Amino acid sequence: MTTLDDLPIRDDLRGLSPYGAPQLDVPVRLNTNENSYPVPEPVVDAIGKALAAELRDLNRYPDRDAVALRADLAGYLGHGLSVEQVWAANGSNEIQQQLLQAFGGPGRTALGFVPAYSMHPLLALGTGTRWVPARRGVDFGLTAAEAVDQVREHAPDVVFLCSPNNPTGTALDPAVVAAVLDVAPGMVVVDEAYAEFARPGTVSALAVLPGHPRLVVTRTMSKAFGFAGGRLGYLAADPAVVAAVQLVRLPYHLSALTQAAARAALAHRDALLGTVAAISAQRDRIVAELRGAGFRVADSDANFVLFEVGGDQAAAWRTLLEHGVLVRDVGLPGWLRVTAGTPAETDAFLAAVRQLPRGRE
Ligand code: PMP
Repeated sequence: MTTLDDLPIRDDLRGLSPYGAPQLDVPVRLNTNENSYPVPEPVVDAIGKALAAELRDLNRYPDRDAVALRADLAGYLGHGLSVEQVWAANGSNEIQQQLLQAFGGPGRTALGFVPAYSMHPLLALGTGTRWVPARRGVDFGLTAAEAVDQVREHAPDVVFLCSPNNPTGTALDPAVVAAVLDVAPGMVVVDEAYAEFARPGTVSALAVLPGHPRLVVTRTMSKAFGFAGGRLGYLAADPAVVAAVQLVRLPYHLSALTQAAARAALAHRDALLGTVAAISAQRDRIVAELRGAGFRVADSDANFVLFEVGGDQAAAWRTLLEHGVLVRDVGLPGWLRVTAGTPAETDAFLAAVRQLPRGRE
């Protein structure tokens, strides 16, 4: 049998395994920060109709520039954004890959403050961009001074900021974004995949866009919209950034079906985003109950919570799994991450947590 090692694969990919959280068939799946609520029936119908209307014309390529969808996304974001400032792709993963293809690549460097979203270094790897893991501060925070010092030291072509940060959960002070923009020699990408879940008082980096052509804010419909299977991510930035990613995107990268489904979902945004308040309430409940049970827990502006199990987090992960609850081991020693879902899922998670040594103390 031929193995990977027998193939003339790139040296920097040799010996690696593919990224991916386990997709296990477990009653309570709280490991990939999906939205636990299914698409409501009226929205299912609307998406079905929108898809049906496309089917006859599937002999033709779709709108390569997804203009109507981008206009809808700009309308959703507000902040006075126009279609020229918005770009869409198959998930924000693809958006960030396109950004690295355009602004990173061989001989270039991308920097992120770890622990952060684990795909950032993998997208760097795939695009031949050198990855610099910069450090976060006390309690996984990041002050302007800490960020500025490390950006100055490494002078990266691309800086990734993540707000709210995955896996730690907290949103970033826009002053940190502004300070990084002042010293970064290249692009600054703020990954706001979880922005809709942020607690009141947090400010999106979208507010910092005017006058900052090297700032990019990435968003997704995978989380708050409950549209992860639809694969739709997008960015907001200066029109020149949109022109740059158009140099590297595959022609017709967004299928006619994806564009139509996403537009129908956006048209029903009130119904879809109606779950955000309920999920945020479960998030706050998980934080409060875990703290009440004596766990250290990171503050969260997202639909997940990072909590300290102490010692061997892989063993704790297995214990929770044995009790029917799948959470995420993000490889942070002593910590696990749980997604906030329905009240029943929170009940099951909190019951399982009581089986952990710390939960019984
Ligand atoms: N950014 C962050 C911080 C994420 O956690 C995720 C999903 N896990 C993504 C981006 C990618 O989401 P998608 O490709 O589904 O838009």
